[in-house]
Amino acid sequence: MIGIDIGTTSTKTLAYGTDGRIFSEIEKEYPLYSSIPSEKEQNPEEVYSAVIETIRDTVKVLQEQGVEATGAGFSSAMHNIMAVDENGKPLTRLITWADQRSVKETEALKEGNGHDIFMRTGTPIHPMSPLTKLMWYRKNEPALFKQAAKWISIKEFVFYRLFGTYAVDYSVASATGLFHLENLDWDDEALRTAGITKEQLSVPTKTSSIFTGLKEELQQELGLSGETPFVIGASDGVLANVGSGALAPGVVACSIGTSGAVRTVVDKPYVDPKQRIFCYALSEGRWVIGGPINNGGIALRWARDKLFPDLKKLAEQEGKNPYDVLNEIIDSVAPASDGLIFLPYLIGERAPFWNSDTKGMFFGLTLHHGREHMLRSVMEGVMMQMYSVVIALMEAGVEPVQFRAGGGFARSQTWKQMMADMFETEIVIPESHQGSCYGAAWMAMDALGIVDSLDSIEQTISIDEKQYPVNENVTAYRDIKPIFLRMARDLQDEFKAISDVQRSHAEGKRRLSADNEEEIL
Ligand code: ADP
Repeated sequence: MIGIDIGTTSTKTLAYGTDGRIFSEIEKEYPLYSSIPSEKEQNPEEVYSAVIETIRDTVKVLQEQGVEATGAGFSSAMHNIMAVDENGKPLTRLITWADQRSVKETEALKEGNGHDIFMRTGTPIHPMSPLTKLMWYRKNEPALFKQAAKWISIKEFVFYRLFGTYAVDYSVASATGLFHLENLDWDDEALRTAGITKEQLSVPTKTSSIFTGLKEELQQELGLSGETPFVIGASDGVLANVGSGALAPGVVACSIGTSGAVRTVVDKPYVDPKQRIFCYALSEGRWVIGGPINNGGIALRWARDKLFPDLKKLAEQEGKNPYDVLNEIIDSVAPASDGLIFLPYLIGERAPFWNSDTKGMFFGLTLHHGREHMLRSVMEGVMMQMYSVVIALMEAGVEPVQFRAGGGFARSQTWKQMMADMFETEIVIPESHQGSCYGAAWMAMDALGIVDSLDSIEQTISIDEKQYPVNENVTAYRDIKPIFLRMARDLQDEFKAISDVQRSHAEGKRRLSADNEEEIL
């Protein structure tokens, strides 16, 4: 079974057996365009080409191994949107989740009917949400807004090219901010707020829906037949839970790569009246609740580059890998960094406060602290932010029975230990099968009756290792966790104030640079 994961930086296409064996693994990257800092766009044609090329090459690799492709299942990034005309021709680029153009619309919505819409749709009111992006287009590009025949996500664009119909799975639909979670249909009030009609959106369909009748020219190109079943699948976030075997009640998936996320599967939609966590559809009778954090590995990378620009040299001198040296420096400082706390909000933050204006901060600095303390406190700050999302989940009624962790952070023994110590429980690290991609392939196998359930994926995933909390460390972190949580909560207004200052100063610099005809920003 081929799993295709259409991501923000690349498309990954893998072929799996029913035992989780990987037959082929192909990735194709594409650029993320940002002509002004708040905009993060992709060229839908480049993404489409990557999908086609990776499927084609996967089929070839399978043929060389004498294996037949049974079908394909899809995962795709959430919250992206683009406009097309009556002929399916793109009128805009693909506006990704990371795009921040709709900050003002988000603020207006928060002050207006945003809370009511959130309570029905489960998508936090945030610039990532397609709802706020539509509001932005309505206001800023009225001619284009009128011209748009459809507003679709990247997976809908790909499926339209493959099969000639517009369809959106419940999962991707549920992350648009326009979809009623209980009714499994578009939400009238959200559509009115966005200024569009149902006809301008695709028909919502189950995540297990099977599509056949691949267009003839594509049958040739891909080496597949018109009968090959394509299962529409779900979004990458919820499929990451499937792909790491985190499906049972109370099993919480925690990942830290560039960003991070905490998620768990529930059997009915749960929306948090405090709007800290999201709720997205996974499959019939299953939803995923949780929260993403923006500042995962990216914060550590920032600290590494800014505080230890000499790290590479240090590593070379000692003949070591730079990350090993980094972890050694962190290990040289005791847990809780001698009372230094870092709020890791370098690029705003999503869960649990969903405030794009949050900023980073070191708190508790004394003459005693050096850059090595600062480095450790950055790693700790990221983990405390993950912990704050876990708390929000527990307050939503989740009783964690297991934490399953993955992502780049798991390459660091220090960071994994930190998770066990801060969460005060055992952490399980499952073997990685490229989570969302495997989840998509398994969902397709389940839809086609090749495996007996979605849950049986867990039997194919072995546990690489377990991490246990150390009492001494737990005690040290208990001293700083409440301070971190209070500061994160209490500083929300000050973050806005300092962001206003940063914006106005940046504006000043931009004006200066325009006067001098020099690019500063
Ligand atoms: P992505 O989310 O972009 O796919 P990864 O899951 O590969 O990224 O995670 C990348 C992050 O993992 C890096 O930014 C870094 O912070 C972290 N990382 C990777 N290896 C190590 C290591 N040995 N020690 C500490 N952090 C690491």
